[in-house]
Amino acid sequence: MSEPTSQSRAASGDPGAPPKRPDAGHDTGDLPLSELSEHGHAALAWIERYLAEPERHPVLSRAAPGDTGRALPSGPPAHAEPLERILADFERSIVPGITHWNHPGFLAYFATTGSVPGIIGELLASALNVNAMLWRTSPAVTELELLVTDWLRQMLGLDDGWFGFLNDTASVSTLLALAAAREARPELAIRERGMAGRTDLPRLRVYCSTHAHSSVDKAAIALGLGHENVVHIEADERFALRADSLAEAMAADSDRGALPLAVVATAGTTSTTSVDPIAAIAPVARRHGAWLHVDAAYAGVAAVLPELRARFTGWEQADSIVVNPHKWMFTPIGASALFVRRPDILRRAFSLVPEYLTTTDPQDVPNLMDYGIQLGRPFRALKMWMVIRAFGTEGIARRIRHHLHLARRFADLVEGSPDWQLAAPVPFSTICFRFAPAGVDDESLDRRNAAILERVNAGGEAFLSHTRLHGRYVLRVAIGNLRTEWEHLERTWELLGKASVESIGISEG
Ligand code: PLP
Repeated sequence: MSEPTSQSRAASGDPGAPPKRPDAGHDTGDLPLSELSEHGHAALAWIERYLAEPERHPVLSRAAPGDTGRALPSGPPAHAEPLERILADFERSIVPGITHWNHPGFLAYFATTGSVPGIIGELLASALNVNAMLWRTSPAVTELELLVTDWLRQMLGLDDGWFGFLNDTASVSTLLALAAAREARPELAIRERGMAGRTDLPRLRVYCSTHAHSSVDKAAIALGLGHENVVHIEADERFALRADSLAEAMAADSDRGALPLAVVATAGTTSTTSVDPIAAIAPVARRHGAWLHVDAAYAGVAAVLPELRARFTGWEQADSIVVNPHKWMFTPIGASALFVRRPDILRRAFSLVPEYLTTTDPQDVPNLMDYGIQLGRPFRALKMWMVIRAFGTEGIARRIRHHLHLARRFADLVEGSPDWQLAAPVPFSTICFRFAPAGVDDESLDRRNAAILERVNAGGEAFLSHTRLHGRYVLRVAIGNLRTEWEHLERTWELLGKASVESIGISEG
């Protein structure tokens, strides 16, 4: 038997084979691989420094509208430019227009972080650059996606009767869930006949609380249900949907001949992170045959903590659940897990296989294009797989627990100060609060709180957002960044105190 040559070893995937340099002798059209090592290493070094010194940049970009565009040529270059110059322009012209979600003072909206394993996963995924539209176009991508969403299911304590896959955002996951809710009523024949011009269709109603995310409204708009058919049910004093009001609204609609199509319960609302009483909502939805979707986009990962799991009681009765690893599970953005009880309904809603996508693969091979509107499918699962493996479920729980602890301490600061008050309970890691010294009317306080927010955000050390609760302007601190520590929250508190003093002149309007 002859010795294997280096070429035959490389062809057989032998790890001992020397790396082949197909571009060494001829032009592939790509840049030479030497550029990858030289500038790839430079980019990695840049990332390392960026993450080591995240406070080097102001957290909220100070760019004025149009600054980034003005800093760059208005037309594309006719001739190739060296990567070195492009990377220098990245630093000089792009980075100043970045608001740094990696900054430990990023406390706005829902703070999120990528992480080292997530970044490595993204890097490798971009190198593979596969499109897993069909199982055969990268079996490992489809199978890893199903595997990691199933890992997530286990981490959340959900039973094995769920089918999960990944979308880019919760907005898309919720859109798909509501499309499935519609398809779950085959008698409506909407897939085939559409809705326009039909007199035989009842009004299709979707219910959620006044605190539900706007993605529910947008999904209803996109699906042609009509924005006015999204019924926003009042919330109780803890900002949770009132199940009794829901029951009344659904019964009244039903009596009027409308069809209650779906209920969206939120576990972790956007403003206050309140949790709707899913266990009380589920039987109401069931009574009307309505689909129950649980939007746990932000807070869902907190169910990894056994001590918090009871907050999600009732979600096991849902038809679908969305949880975003890209929000609070340290996975770079573009990873939203949708779990459904009946994947066959999603397939019924979306499967459409033109000739050029038919295959000779076995019937039971999953082609994830059948479960939604997108054909092209990036390798999202790789970064999530890397995060879960590199941190472990115990490590993820520990990081989330730390954020909960930081939030509790910050809430204690607010509660301990006579001039400030909590504006909502703090079930997770987001604190809603307000500067509210005695003897100042509500309108003046609104203006002062808005001014405090502006002033703190302009400083570059902390970035907070706001909401309105009971009509009043309220500040929000959301903790979800791996690099946020107590010192950053203490500093934010100090900045808030200074800004509150400086806001005195504003109160008169
Ligand atoms: N649902 C809730 C409760 C949210 O808070 C958000 C965003 O913050 C969304 C859905 C939308 O998430 P995405 O940006 O992934 O579409």
